Amino acid sequence: MLKSYGYAAYNPQTPLRSFNFERRDPTAQDIVIEILYCGVCHSDIHQARNEWKSSSYPMVPGHEIIGRVSATGTEVSNFKIGDPVGVGCMVDSCGVCGDCQEHQEQFCHAAVFTYNSPDKHTGKITYGGYSNQIVVDQRFVLHISENLDLAAVAPLLCAGITTYSPLRHWNIKAGDKVGIVGLGGLGHMGVKFAHAFGAHTVLFTTSTHKVEDALRLGADEVVISKNIDEMQKHAQSFNFILDTVAAQHDLDQYLSLLKRDGILCLVGVPDYPHPTPSVANLIFKRRSLVGSLIGGIQETQEMLDFCATHNIVADIELIDIEKINHAYERMLKSDVKYRFVIDMASLTA
Ligand code: NAP
Ligand code: ZN
Repeated sequence: MLKSYGYAAYNPQTPLRSFNFERRDPTAQDIVIEILYCGVCHSDIHQARNEWKSSSYPMVPGHEIIGRVSATGTEVSNFKIGDPVGVGCMVDSCGVCGDCQEHQEQFCHAAVFTYNSPDKHTGKITYGGYSNQIVVDQRFVLHISENLDLAAVAPLLCAGITTYSPLRHWNIKAGDKVGIVGLGGLGHMGVKFAHAFGAHTVLFTTSTHKVEDALRLGADEVVISKNIDEMQKHAQSFNFILDTVAAQHDLDQYLSLLKRDGILCLVGVPDYPHPTPSVANLIFKRRSLVGSLIGGIQETQEMLDFCATHNIVADIELIDIEKINHAYERMLKSDVKYRFVIDMASLTA
């Protein structure tokens, strides 16, 4: 076993603190990664605080992992010691079902998530990236370009792929009018990708002080979603709206902004359900309300390569690990610009 250390939630109420644990011994297929950076996703808060009612403790969160290969199993050929690599939300899947064969491992019945998920190898719960090292099957390890700022690449592993995948799946392109709801970790990547794909990009925010940043990040327009008049001006005009908000809210205010056949795609996962939207809002313009879950491994590599080519990374605040509880509190107040990333050099055994 590999002696490892990190930060864990011990229960839903108390702050995260240091935790010593063991990683499994690597198999021939495995890669051992020394973790350099780990992004802080709102899903980490939901799970550390048991908001989705599926948490096991102690829990080491973290699924936006960047590191360097420190060892490889005998059957690993695509990676060598020292390579910069990434790990996102998944570390395993069955590999044979229809979803896996179509490179949609996130939907596999046996997908193993990076933390808080039963590990096929050990039968125990997986531990995530708020830690010094991780052991991952080579099929779930991503190649990272040395040309980008590695700390700012970390959020691409979840916030990046979760916004890239639906924009690609629904074929967002120049000429489309796209809305992004919420300027947090996911939302700011959504703005960057929608802009990069050539769409007319409108950011919806509850925070009046984020307007300038949103324009700098690539939004063509910014709408303060609490302002009914501003919202009305965009009625029936959008092809696609991506909703990244981490809390319960009214979906009808966005459905009514879609044109005929428009799509409202939810990626935020609130702890309490949204009020049921109006049926009339859906049927009268044949609108769709859909959802999307991260993205497959092949598409995650495609997204990372796209970012390397187009020089796209997250806007981050790099923090020491002892600031993690403070970072959670700031995220809950929508006060993040626009992703916290933990510098793992600050972690001691
Ligand atoms: P985040 O950085 O905290 O950003 C969420 C944003 O939502 C806030 O910055 C805020 O933007 C907006 N918001 C409006 N009202 C809010 C409220 N009452 N409470 C909190 N936020 C509010 O979160 P994130 O990391 O981007 O994650 C967003 C959601 O996506 C979370 O629920 C997360 O679990 C989920 N998620 C889903 C997937 C997936 O595969 N579907 C993957 C990763 C994360 P404004 O200030 O601009 O209004
Ligand atoms: Zn995430």
